[in-house]
Amino acid sequence: MNSQSILVPKISTLPVHEPRARAIVRWLVRKNIIKEELTTCGRTGNRMAYALADGARAVVLHPEALPFNEPINGLEIIYKRCIYTPAKGFLEEAGCPECLKEVGEALFESLEDWMPGHTDNFTCPLCGHEDDINGFLFLQECGFSNLGFIFNNWAEAGFKQSFIDEFADWLDQKMSWVKVEL
Ligand SMILES: [Zn+2]
Repeated sequence: MNSQSILVPKISTLPVHEPRARAIVRWLVRKNIIKEELTTCGRTGNRMAYALADGARAVVLHPEALPFNEPINGLEIIYKRCIYTPAKGFLEEAGCPECLKEVGEALFESLEDWMPGHTDNFTCPLCGHEDDINGFLFLQECGFSNLGFIFNNWAEAGFKQSFIDEFADWLDQKMSWVKVEL
């Protein structure tokens, strides 16, 4: 199994995102959902991540699917602007919340301006509605933010809605849950 469950706030630029992420790590450690020390249980870069711990069984839908015996099972946190999409079978579809028309092609092209931080917003080419790019409608959940929580190989286990809601409370934002099959 190679998957990622990624929780991303639905905002391009989350203010004071690093201290808020550290508060979330302390909460997850307190609940024994992750281990306190970083170890090489991630997938990217130097592979440092917070390993899966026993308390995680309480916050997922299918505890038996948690990757306890996998070398890659940790939480990686990304602090720079990043685009999160499902890797396989991604259709690049998006809708405008105002005129409800399909705007995926223009929206995903506009990420060329979004990625370097020229803008946080997208403007509907059909009706002129402008909003943070996360405010548009995505058939398959995507995330566009300067903060992302990547749970490596947790996708099959799922998340309880209450767990996602707690992230939303900590960050004062709605959350996207991006499921990635690698
Ligand atoms: Zn529109």
